[in-house]
Amino acid sequence: MTDYAKFSEAGRHAVAAASIVCRSVQDALEEVRSVTKDDKSPVTVADYASQAIVGFALRERLGDVVLVAEEASAFLRDEDNAVFLAATLAAVREVWEDATEADVLGAIDIGAGDTSHRGFWTLDPIDGTKGFLRNQQYAVALGYVENGTPTIGVMGCPNLPVDMSLPLDERDPDGCMYLAVKNEGVYETACDTDKGEMVRLTRLDHAEGEEISVCGSVEKAHSNASDTDRILGWIESQGLGATGEPVRLDSQCKYSVVARGQADAYLRLPTRKDYVERIWDHAAGSCIANESGAFVTDIFGRNLDFSHGRGLEKNTGIVCAPPRVHGVMLRAIGALGIGKDA
Ligand code: AMP
Ligand code: MG
Repeated sequence: MTDYAKFSEAGRHAVAAASIVCRSVQDALEEVRSVTKDDKSPVTVADYASQAIVGFALRERLGDVVLVAEEASAFLRDEDNAVFLAATLAAVREVWEDATEADVLGAIDIGAGDTSHRGFWTLDPIDGTKGFLRNQQYAVALGYVENGTPTIGVMGCPNLPVDMSLPLDERDPDGCMYLAVKNEGVYETACDTDKGEMVRLTRLDHAEGEEISVCGSVEKAHSNASDTDRILGWIESQGLGATGEPVRLDSQCKYSVVARGQADAYLRLPTRKDYVERIWDHAAGSCIANESGAFVTDIFGRNLDFSHGRGLEKNTGIVCAPPRVHGVMLRAIGALGIGKDA
């Protein structure tokens, strides 16, 4: 039997520590860029540091864990990249003071687990890398998957303001974290401590007649923005509701933005036939949205199936919304034939 209290507490502790590290790399963006002579390196350093911290923290509290994470240590083990390893170690030491280079590499390797186990953790150490580099939204996203379904979702959103009246495209000084356990609800709490108060998000729904607000990716390659516009146009033309201008933000924060009722839907519509969504891009977020009362399926209404390795091989795109809006979105997608040739 999975000890959900113990597992979710370990997950929260791990993500809180990783969020601190990501934030301090972001504070030093220019410095990291200049040390490594590479524009994209801050995200590289923060990715590895975040993965090392989560691996280390889970093992510290839970012993041997199966963790399937996005990154691998090979790049940092290459002597040509010694400067990246040194910068990663410096970042890790913010929360793991006596870590050595060997410790960091070993902790990153904890994430090389495989998905054949009955239960495993999956991690995107920095989801929304482009958002991280733009000083906008990104997430440390950790999910626990059992028999093909996420049962725990932990998401650190270091730049997301708790106050929903504040803009989403700016960096918040505090950020927030979401924690969900299947059938036990979802909570909002502080991003970089595992001790703060947890506020339960009440089950959301969308009243007929209210404007439907949709969120989606900033990056044009990740979701088809013109199909989103067609869907919203169709909904209006059928008299199914007024729709607003789509809100764009990076990362799985979108699932949390729906869970807290700030947006009524998260749409991720395929831009290419052959793209397979990665499990770490959806495990934590879909659990969080589900526990808020939202439905999360692919664009054909199929449940997300996490039992096919590192990709959602049996799914196409994402529709996440409270029940009524979810139904409207699927009707629109069907009527417009979106994804038919995907
Ligand atoms: P977002 O911030 O929601 O735009 O999503 C970021 C994620 O998009 C990254 O973690 C990538 O794994 C994923 N991604 C990369 N290429 C594609 C693509 N062609 N379609 C959908 N997602 C993608
Ligand atoms: Mg990602």
